[in-house]
Amino acid sequence: MAELDREYPSLRARLIGMLALFAALFLGLTAYLYFSSRSIFADALERELTGDSDWMVAQISADPGLLENSSRTDSLCSAVAKYKGFRVTVIDTTGRVLADSHVPRAELSALENHRNRPEVQDALAGGWGHSWRHSSTLSTEMLYVARLLPKHKGYLRLAAGPVALNSFQNASLRVFALFLGLFLAASAAVTAWISRKISDPLLQLMKDRSAEASWPAGASPPRWEAEFREAEVLNRAFQGYVDQIRKLGGDVESERDKLVAILNQLEEGILILSGDGVVLAANPSSLTLLGLEPRAAGALAEGSPNDAASPGSKVRSARGRPACVGQSAEKVLKQKSLIHWVRDAALPDRPPFLHIDKGVDSPFDLLCHLAALESSGGAREYLLTVIDVTEFRHLDRVKSEFVANASHELKTPLSSIKGYAEALLEGALNDAKVRGPFVTKIHANALRLERLIQDLLNLSQLEANPVPKEIEALPLRGYVNAAANLYRDNLEAAGIRLENHVPEDLRVLMEPRDLELILNNLVGNAVKYNRPGGKVKVGVETSSVKLFVKDTGIGIPAEMLPRIFERFYRADASRARKDGTGLGLAIVKHAAAKYGIAVGAESVLGEGSRFVLDLGKVVEVT
Ligand code: ADP
Repeated sequence: MAELDREYPSLRARLIGMLALFAALFLGLTAYLYFSSRSIFADALERELTGDSDWMVAQISADPGLLENSSRTDSLCSAVAKYKGFRVTVIDTTGRVLADSHVPRAELSALENHRNRPEVQDALAGGWGHSWRHSSTLSTEMLYVARLLPKHKGYLRLAAGPVALNSFQNASLRVFALFLGLFLAASAAVTAWISRKISDPLLQLMKDRSAEASWPAGASPPRWEAEFREAEVLNRAFQGYVDQIRKLGGDVESERDKLVAILNQLEEGILILSGDGVVLAANPSSLTLLGLEPRAAGALAEGSPNDAASPGSKVRSARGRPACVGQSAEKVLKQKSLIHWVRDAALPDRPPFLHIDKGVDSPFDLLCHLAALESSGGAREYLLTVIDVTEFRHLDRVKSEFVANASHELKTPLSSIKGYAEALLEGALNDAKVRGPFVTKIHANALRLERLIQDLLNLSQLEANPVPKEIEALPLRGYVNAAANLYRDNLEAAGIRLENHVPEDLRVLMEPRDLELILNNLVGNAVKYNRPGGKVKVGVETSSVKLFVKDTGIGIPAEMLPRIFERFYRADASRARKDGTGLGLAIVKHAAAKYGIAVGAESVLGEGSRFVLDLGKVVEVT
């Protein structure tokens, strides 16, 4: 601040300087008038004395006996002195005073001889003379004008003191003193006012803003900027505020950009509606989910209800704003149920959620939520959130189907068991012919029930543990042999030959139970759906580490191939008799998926099938 004081005096300091200058000028003018008035007044006095002396000389010339008569001479002198205020003196040729308006006649003889007075000497020489000098008689400075009387009878002398000059000068000094006093008082008041009203607040403003600190050391602002320090202070303070506002604007903009980016990335559809149902903003997901007209490019766009009608709306739309923004929701939405629901937005009993089923109106299953927003202006707006629940609904349906299928599959053997058991209880137990077969049927259905329940348990365990936990390096060939052993009776009964071509040293990193489930089901199917005397070949494609289980069985119709991994799916009803549960391949798919292993199936109807698993991700590299 001290540096600033030195460089740019404050407005107050400048004002005081200006006032002091005015005061000095006024003082100079007064002094000039004071001193120059002397010569002005002297000239005027001299002209007046000369004029009056002319008149008196004329009087004396016109009256030759006047000077001989002393009382008449005294009267003339007294009359002029009285009316004009001059001193009138008549001097004879020797210098003796004959009459004097200011000296009684009795005292005239005591006066000095006037012959050597300068004005008298000049009058003697040229008929007229004057001089300024001190009068010992009147004890003041006087102007003397002397005239030579006609016929050299003597001299007439008029004298006057600078009375008018003195009173003028005294008046000047009084006026000057008064003016100076008023001037100083007014200056002090104005300075104090400016200081309080302008300078101090500005300097405070400057301190508050700490603008000085932001000024680089040693740098000075351009001269025009600092014409007044207050202007500079103001400039710098405002510059500070402008910077702050600009930064604030930048922050707001970047926050807005972030918000827009988030809304653009959201998978949920967001629509903002005005209180009267006009679309104010729509994010890209909402356009996709609700089947609204997409925009050309750009981010979440906003608009006012009037935009649609405005002449520039087409331009903005082309630039990337969704076509629905600015339009009535009723006009742009395609889902009738949604239109009614949105229309009833303000009703108190309106349900907060709306489900829209996949179908004619929408390619997705949608869940909509509408919430009222209180905008800053107090106007009511609505936030419509649209969520794609197609996947959830699908899972829901699959689950319902699964429960229905499982119930059905469980009920069939259970009904059989119940039927045979009731028959036995009602008397068949005593019939030796049917007793044995009935108990066998009960046993077979109980086994089927057990397999079914075991498969259901396996499947639910795989779903509950989708990530491998305790993996081990398992010898694949040994596990294939174990699976073959499991079906040894079936293999022998049908005369099917199983070939295990898996290399001895190949190990896979998996949980043992998962590998067992995969191999048992694939080998089991290859045996189950094979023809008598057929062949099952298990091996690994050396080029790509793919495990294959190939059979020479009945094959799978091509149109059914894509569905065989679904739960409870059977390629055709006749295969039900093969004692399958319809869950084997679903278990294989889930167990393989746990390790990111893809399972594929190829088949030629009547010739056989080939199931392939890519072991690339689980094979142990030594
Ligand atoms: P299932 O217990 O009925 O065998 P899976 O899930 O194991 O159930 O198999 C589903 C269906 O796929 C079977 O019903 C069958 O129609 C067909 N399938 C599976 N493996 C073979 C195969 N190796 N040969 C012919 N068809 C097969």
